[in-house]
Amino acid sequence: MKQNLLDFEPTAMTAWFAENGEKPFRAKQVLRWIYKSGEHDFDAMSDLAVSLREKLKQIASIHTPKMVREETASDGTRKWLLDVGTGNAVETVFIPEEGRGTLCVSTQAGCALDCAFCSTGKQGFNRNLSTAEIIGQVWWANHELGKNADGNWPVTNVVLMGMGEPLLNFDNTVNALRLMLDDNAYGLSRRRVTVSTSGVVPAMDRLRDECPVALAVSLHAPNDALRNVLVPINQKYPLQELMAACRRYLEKAPRDFVTFEYIMLAGVNDTVQHARELIELVRDVPCKFNLIPFNPIPQAPYQRSDMRTVLRFRDVLMQADIVTTIRKVRGDDIAAACGQLAGQVQDKTKRTHRLVLSSRSGRLSPRPLAGED
Ligand code: SAH
Ligand code: SF4
Repeated sequence: MKQNLLDFEPTAMTAWFAENGEKPFRAKQVLRWIYKSGEHDFDAMSDLAVSLREKLKQIASIHTPKMVREETASDGTRKWLLDVGTGNAVETVFIPEEGRGTLCVSTQAGCALDCAFCSTGKQGFNRNLSTAEIIGQVWWANHELGKNADGNWPVTNVVLMGMGEPLLNFDNTVNALRLMLDDNAYGLSRRRVTVSTSGVVPAMDRLRDECPVALAVSLHAPNDALRNVLVPINQKYPLQELMAACRRYLEKAPRDFVTFEYIMLAGVNDTVQHARELIELVRDVPCKFNLIPFNPIPQAPYQRSDMRTVLRFRDVLMQADIVTTIRKVRGDDIAAACGQLAGQVQDKTKRTHRLVLSSRSGRLSPRPLAGED
């Protein structure tokens, strides 16, 4: 089978070229063609010798996952559903804003962590995405949107907040991060690339040591009793351990704060008392809060907090000098929240697939903490 070059981070690309008898600068040239020019046709790589182009055509390819559906919301938010085989699809969302474009990227098909409010979690874990499938989402979005008038790619910021837990697909996630950061690839600043995690503590330390980027932590509750229910991985890595991991992360992080994401669930985690508890919890962690309006899903009993409650919660945090934003609801009309569109499609397409798989191996039932280091 041909080698998909999107699977190589820069060092691996150089090693592969060496194995094939080619000089390191060839790897750099090809990286630049793929990521800086958005090229996937070896014939167009005009500064490579014709013989090398022919050789690459024989042994390599450049391909992203197949796109099965695309939607554009009235506010300009774009969403793609990428077919990753065996009846699975993952989503990628592009959010255009003044002066920047943020791409929300998925790292796993499904997720094993089964957070109580999350549609991806309700699908169970299917498999990790490959490096090519993760970086391929950035490549695809840039390719579809085309370069800006200034010659730059429209994706200026990446957040790993799509489907899946990035730190449970550690190696492929880090490979993709390296391509986002490398000067011969996308060359994004570490501050413009954010990993979002539900709190896989040992992997947070690894990320800090191997490839520190901006960090968002899905907190969602101010105490262990509630977080154990909403974010079950908390049973393994409780809040005090998580706070300590955040502090360690900040020693090497490109930003001097952690962003805590907090979904506002009516009557569950949204009272003034919860806000006060949070202030105590994060006392020693430089942080900002992002309050997220809950997108209701059929599989969970929760409701969205009303705006008055959200504003009151924000005010309590702000009075304690914690910068707090409320996430704008984007792409509402195309269900651009975590896991939602893929959820709809999979409900239709996976039913037969589920029967086949479950009778064969039962793989679609969530595997707890699969892929964890
Ligand atoms: N697994 C990682 C990253 C993907 S989830 C994590 O949990 O951080 C990305 C974000 O979407 C998380 O903050 C998650 O809590 C949020 N999210 C999940 N389900 C949601 C829903 N129904 N409504 C609003 N946000 C949701
Ligand atoms: Fe997984 Fe994140 Fe969804 Fe939790 S919120 S189930 S960790 S994708």
